[in-house]
Amino acid sequence: MSVPYERGAGSAGSAGGVAGAAGAVSAGRGGVGAGGAGSQHPVLERRVLGTTGITVSRMCFGTLTIGPIQAKLPLGEGATLIRAAVDAGVNFIDTAELYGTYEYIREAISGRGRARDDVVIASRSYDYTYEGMRRAVERALGSMGVDCVDIFLLHEQESALTLKGHQEALRYLADARRAGKVRAIGASTHHVACVRAAALVPDIDVIHPLVNRSGIGIADGTAAEMLAAVEDARLAGKGIYSMKALGGGALLDDVEGALGWVLAQPCVDSVAVGIKTLDELRMDLAIFEGRRPDDGLRERTRQNKALIIEPWCTGCGSCVARCTHGALKISPRTKRPVVDTARCVVCGYCQAACPEFCMKVV
Ligand code: SF4
Ligand code: SF4
Repeated sequence: MSVPYERGAGSAGSAGGVAGAAGAVSAGRGGVGAGGAGSQHPVLERRVLGTTGITVSRMCFGTLTIGPIQAKLPLGEGATLIRAAVDAGVNFIDTAELYGTYEYIREAISGRGRARDDVVIASRSYDYTYEGMRRAVERALGSMGVDCVDIFLLHEQESALTLKGHQEALRYLADARRAGKVRAIGASTHHVACVRAAALVPDIDVIHPLVNRSGIGIADGTAAEMLAAVEDARLAGKGIYSMKALGGGALLDDVEGALGWVLAQPCVDSVAVGIKTLDELRMDLAIFEGRRPDDGLRERTRQNKALIIEPWCTGCGSCVARCTHGALKISPRTKRPVVDTARCVVCGYCQAACPEFCMKVV
């Protein structure tokens, strides 16, 4: 299914987006609202993701926040949160092999009589070989209890060179798409250069770029440069769902402004937001639906995130090598890592590299 997109198409003035904008198709409804379960509130917009034919809600539930890298929610609590979002019309769930959240998704979508077809799942892996990516896709299918992962992406790509280095993984994903194990192929990135390179790769259907109004976390350019690359990619027919609208927590002081800015970009089909509490879900739903969150809700969700390093750190340096933002270095004085808060996007990825389990995002 081809979805025409023209430069500047759609509304740039509404935080909640406007039906009739490029690719806007329909909406889901029900469930959790600012006023609590069962309240009446506007519908959540859906769009077709580029030329994939996959219809997704403008709001995508990012699961990094609920899993072992961040909030470490009990399985039932995390699954309940995902279900509440789905009940509220969010049909798009983002995960990654690294996040360790497949079980939450499995729990959320199984055994409740909800048609699996209603929920679009995106996952990704760092694997770069044909066989490695085959195993990654099979793990995702088995762990989530699904027979198709809607979108499977190459994780954290940087440039045309990195994409070239993953061509065997890409070849597997193309075979998996033909076999019906995935519906679309993508690349996630913090780099402007990668967005531009991925736009030229015919087998890549979807790009998951880092987009926020301050450009926080963009590795090689400004917010304006990223947006220009994203718009060109969307014009080339790629589906776009963005990440880190809140700069990994740095823009939490003005959630409405930061999310509203991304939602006003017509070239961004969907926006992934990390959610770990019911209040955050309610706050985000209000913003995506163009409603004003009440002051109590705004206050309860105004909480800055930070990366904490526990005292039992051995100074091994694994976390420093893992951080692609250059936000960690070993202090010559203490022999322990120090965090450059200007560079850190509080993603928690370094935590997965720590053999001592002494890093956490709070
Ligand atoms: S220091 Fe850790 S949390 Fe911060 S950007 Fe690097 S990997 Fe992410
Ligand atoms: S990986 Fe863990 S133990 Fe090693 S330096 Fe980093 S925080 Fe310390």
